[in-house]
Amino acid sequence: MKKIAIIGAGISGLYFANLFKGNPNYQIIIYEKNNSLDLNEGYGIQLSVNSIKLLNKIGFQNFNSQDKFNPNKIDFYSANQNVKICDLNIADFNTIDCKYTTLKRSILIKYLKENLNTEIIKYDHNISKINYTNDLIKLVFQNNISRECDFLIISDGIFSKAKTLITNNLVKPSFNGSIAVRGIINKKDLTGINLDNISLFLGKNFHNVIYPMNEMGEFNYIAILKYHLKFQELKTYEFLNDNSPINKFLGELPYNTKIKKIKYYPVFISNNFYKPFKNNLFLLGDAFFAVPPSFAQGASQSIEGAFELYESIQNNSYCNFYSNRIKRLKIIKNRSKINQFAFHLSSPIMIFLRNFFLKVLTKNKKFLENYLGKVYRN
Ligand SMILES: Cc1cc2nc3c(=O)[nH]c(=O)nc-3n(C[C@H](O)[C@H](O)[C@H](O)COP(=O)(O)OP(=O)(O)OC[C@H]3O[C@@H](n4cnc5c(N)ncnc54)[C@H](O)[C@@H]3O)c2cc1C
Repeated sequence: MKKIAIIGAGISGLYFANLFKGNPNYQIIIYEKNNSLDLNEGYGIQLSVNSIKLLNKIGFQNFNSQDKFNPNKIDFYSANQNVKICDLNIADFNTIDCKYTTLKRSILIKYLKENLNTEIIKYDHNISKINYTNDLIKLVFQNNISRECDFLIISDGIFSKAKTLITNNLVKPSFNGSIAVRGIINKKDLTGINLDNISLFLGKNFHNVIYPMNEMGEFNYIAILKYHLKFQELKTYEFLNDNSPINKFLGELPYNTKIKKIKYYPVFISNNFYKPFKNNLFLLGDAFFAVPPSFAQGASQSIEGAFELYESIQNNSYCNFYSNRIKRLKIIKNRSKINQFAFHLSSPIMIFLRNFFLKVLTKNKKFLENYLGKVYRN
């Protein structure tokens, strides 16, 4: 029996462990640094059909339908005039069992956790050393416990400590010049939008997205603001001071007074792909490569990567794992950058042209098949 150790009980690590459930050839252990998983965090996540298809392989089609939502369209609005520009029918990519889905991130984590035996996740295990002896990998944790494994899966998120250990701190994410504002908003506080759809507001140097997360009337709010921060501000969150220009910016966002549980995050993304030199050591999810958020593919790509790695390990064929993954992530990264650029335009002429092209392209089947279908119909 081969031992597989997973560092990090996030979306990619938990989904990967679920795929091996009941497989007598592998023993799976997940090492998580926290003493529990946060199952109360209320923010939302969007999952496109490419990842729903893979989640269905572990039974997600039977998941309680009250706790998720299937939006039909993305409605584009001009943020300052609150005028609808056009809409895009994302349900066109749905099949009977695979529908574009929104839900709370914590609900997805809970679902992935509940499918596993309780002893699989070892809490309070913060990785501190990774050593190799021939084909075995030795892990040492901050609580001085050490363990050996045949395969090591690094899935401890964007600021992966395990990745810094294997790269000697040389490969790091970087700030992408924007701040994410996350929050929750109730159905009763939303007016003038279609509550069955995802509403995308385009403003000068920002965009924000509001979408239903379940059938109980809870909506996720996320704004991405173009905002440059100095190194020091990133560490201390000084940009949130009362006198900071960001407060003026926030005051102008649609529905700003109605949003609850507001949190701010400087957005970090990956710049380089790092392929480990050992063929029994793999990086998954944001630890491998974190894409910019404007294509809403972070979690979906974490799930896709985990499934591809599962198949590679099952078939004993790792040679194409990274090349296929990198090809795919480059497509997502480029589309995310195009989206963010188009969503944040500030010149009136450019905005006029963008809105014109949006109206045309969101109804052009050939374009949509190429731009979205290439990602959604994996
Ligand atoms: C603002 C914003 C909005 C987003 N919206 C969407 C969206 O709508 N749709 C979408 O698909 N994606 C979205 N994403 C991205 C998505 O949340 C991530 O891509 C996804 O969660 C990555 O999963 P992961 O498993 O790689 O890491 P994570 O889910 O971050 O999990 C990492 C786990 O590792 C643990 N860990 C960390 N360090 C250690 C250590 N030293 N030792 C042991 N364990 C450790 C952590 O506690 C955590 O449990 C968004 C991201 C941002 C920033």
